[in-house]
Amino acid sequence: MPLGLYISIPFCRSKCTYCNFASGVFSAAQMGQYVDRLVSDMRAMRGFAAEHGAEILEPADSIYLGGGTPSLLPPDQLKKLLFNLRQEFALLPKAEVTVECAPGTLTDAIIQALLTRGVNRASLGVQSFVDKEAASVARLHTREKTLQDIEHLRRAGISNINVDLIAGLPHQTRESWNYSLDEAIATGVPHVSVYMLEVDEDSRLGRELIAGGTRYHAHFVPDEDLTAEMYETAWDRLNSAGIRQYEISNFAREGYESRHNLKYWTRQPYLGFGVDAHSMLPAKARFAEEDVESVRFATTDNYDRFLSAPDLTVAKVTSAQALEESFFLGLRLNRGVSLAVIRERFGPLFHAHGSVIIDDLTAQGLLHREGDIVRLTPRGRLLSNEVFERFVGEEESLPIR
Ligand code: SF4
Repeated sequence: MPLGLYISIPFCRSKCTYCNFASGVFSAAQMGQYVDRLVSDMRAMRGFAAEHGAEILEPADSIYLGGGTPSLLPPDQLKKLLFNLRQEFALLPKAEVTVECAPGTLTDAIIQALLTRGVNRASLGVQSFVDKEAASVARLHTREKTLQDIEHLRRAGISNINVDLIAGLPHQTRESWNYSLDEAIATGVPHVSVYMLEVDEDSRLGRELIAGGTRYHAHFVPDEDLTAEMYETAWDRLNSAGIRQYEISNFAREGYESRHNLKYWTRQPYLGFGVDAHSMLPAKARFAEEDVESVRFATTDNYDRFLSAPDLTVAKVTSAQALEESFFLGLRLNRGVSLAVIRERFGPLFHAHGSVIIDDLTAQGLLHREGDIVRLTPRGRLLSNEVFERFVGEEESLPIR
């Protein structure tokens, strides 16, 4: 089970109105200070993991720089970060190396820095190809800029590109959503992520949706039914175009599924660095008698606190929690969960906790069982949070990215 490496970069050009993530607009000096902290955390991680009974299984086969907007880092900082990551952790030569980028931030110097450090996949936060919709939530790019950036990346040799879209943005209509899907398909990118708008209630748009108002276009946010219909339209349109759904929010042409993100849903080990970054590593054998299956680390989601102190939370995952996770993460994937694998791995635990829930959810039409494979039904995909909640026990575990 190869390792995945994640780095969180909490810098953005402007703050999207629906977002309350610990991201913001920072100076180049602050970015430099943050990168220095990341490098020192990378150097300390081996000792920290050993101290907490977690194993780092190398080599890694994926790196993911997410955020925020990693492509906002000055090119020398971006190079420094990836150089140090490769110094600290062994990486397979054919590793997938992804960087999240905002359209409009891909200068020649940034693209050169990406290439120099082996980046071979880019994820573009497009959200909408309709300029009015993107602008209504404070995104700064246009459709034209997005198309230019895709071309620019391809010319530089990075053709493994993801486009993020959001269903449910202010001003979105059935027609405009179909237009964004048309454009995404026409670009020929091999991967599209589709999210239904989730508005943090502490974001500007969230507060306006609760209190009323027009400044952040809350009065133009489509209702939940229309947003769900848009998601289903995306499912139809992308699948018909050969960009097939493989996870609730992710669609890819064959062979272009995100190797890094698959780790989260299949419980492969990953190490995260930066603000609000999470790690999951297998527990060392010495923990076997204590029933610790794996160990999770998480950093704070508060930028100032992160910079002022090493503030890692550690949680041990028991076999029962690992079983729950195998269900609620694995069911996100269209290929579903193999009960044969679960039985082999968890034995009696499965019979005690899992099988009754599966029978019940199958009877409700939320799961479909075919032999030993269990999958979400189309209705189950729309009500996935309800399904996942059924698998979560009372023991609290760390949040998962
Ligand atoms: S949604 Fe992403 S790009 Fe927008 S403010 Fe939040 S972290 Fe930044």
